[in-house]
Amino acid sequence: MEETPLSRTGRAWREVDGRALVHNARLLQGLLAPGCRLMAVVKAEAYGHGAVWAARTLEAQGVDAFAVACLSEGIALRRAGISGVILVLGWTPPEQAPLLAAYGLTQAVADAAHGLTLSAQGVELKVHLALDTGMHRLGIPAEDTAAIAHMFALPHLKVEGVFSHLCVSDGNSEQDRAFTARQLEVFYRAAEELRRRGLDPGALHIQASYGLCRLPPQPCQYARPGIALYGAASSPDLPLGVAGLEPVLSLRARVVSVRALPAGCGAGYGLAFQSMEDRRLAVVSIGYADGLPRALSQRGGQVLLGGTRRPMVGRMCMDQLLVDVTDGPEVAAGDVATLIGQDGGARISAEEVARQCGTIANELLSRLGPRLPVVPLV
Ligand SMILES: *Cc1c(COP(=O)(O)O)cnc(C)c1O
Repeated sequence: MEETPLSRTGRAWREVDGRALVHNARLLQGLLAPGCRLMAVVKAEAYGHGAVWAARTLEAQGVDAFAVACLSEGIALRRAGISGVILVLGWTPPEQAPLLAAYGLTQAVADAAHGLTLSAQGVELKVHLALDTGMHRLGIPAEDTAAIAHMFALPHLKVEGVFSHLCVSDGNSEQDRAFTARQLEVFYRAAEELRRRGLDPGALHIQASYGLCRLPPQPCQYARPGIALYGAASSPDLPLGVAGLEPVLSLRARVVSVRALPAGCGAGYGLAFQSMEDRRLAVVSIGYADGLPRALSQRGGQVLLGGTRRPMVGRMCMDQLLVDVTDGPEVAAGDVATLIGQDGGARISAEEVARQCGTIANELLSRLGPRLPVVPLV
């Protein structure tokens, strides 16, 4: 069915603010050393904001490097006309090397064996080498200069960059800061070792959002922010420490029906909400199949209606949830409820909702489902 502009804000949708995204990109760019540029991380549909929308918006402002998690995400960006560097951060099966090459994607080499099998496909590939500086997830051990240097000798790999990932850069403890300093030291020493051997490591990059926001400018060619670009911290307990970032996404849904719940009645599955007195309930057309954690409604979840906070009640359904609207301004069917974002003077942040659900904003946002159209603010 062809979507009309009206149907996009019909039931539930993600409103995305391009002005805020560009503002955040400029703010983050301003924290980088001269010669260091943003590699915008747009994996997982740009953390639920729509990867094509985010990449196009940033590309129009001069951002020319992007990072995705997997081959299909890279291909989707190329098909949408994104022309800059697109680095696939995650593992790509070696037999898919022809697709990487055909779409001009740059592949991260996950470890030495991955590099060998990628090269063995016989297709010319642009790669960045992942170095393990202490996270012990992906990468060739940064101290293993021989193994790293060997990747430069492989016939079909063109090494255009060397990168690593910080794993405790969001920590505040002395121990975390020392670990991060150690990761940086090991990383730059590996790059220096390569140069000493006459090899050009190409573009260096190691900072994601927290590294970018909390560390001094680094002698790198790229920084890879994700969550900070979208104007969120991972958690209210883990501030980025940079003022002025603006949330890009608002999550909104319509009120379907407003009904009376007489005293002594229950509502929803399991009749989990029980009213001691007469209440009014609004049914809101969004549920856990849209990516909201089901637990939210019973962990203090709220929505904004008429510029005021109203509590979710009972169990969240797959496609709907219940809100107690007894107190506060009148609510009617068709009204817009805000689950994340601003309504009048009130705001609910992604970080707040994530904390209520025992997770981080990264997970909450990236799980917002494809059933929610991405509607850019104009
Ligand atoms: C996801 C990811 C990022 C972005 O992380 P944020 O914390 O969202 O900024 C950067 N680098 C790598 C390797 C990643 O996997």
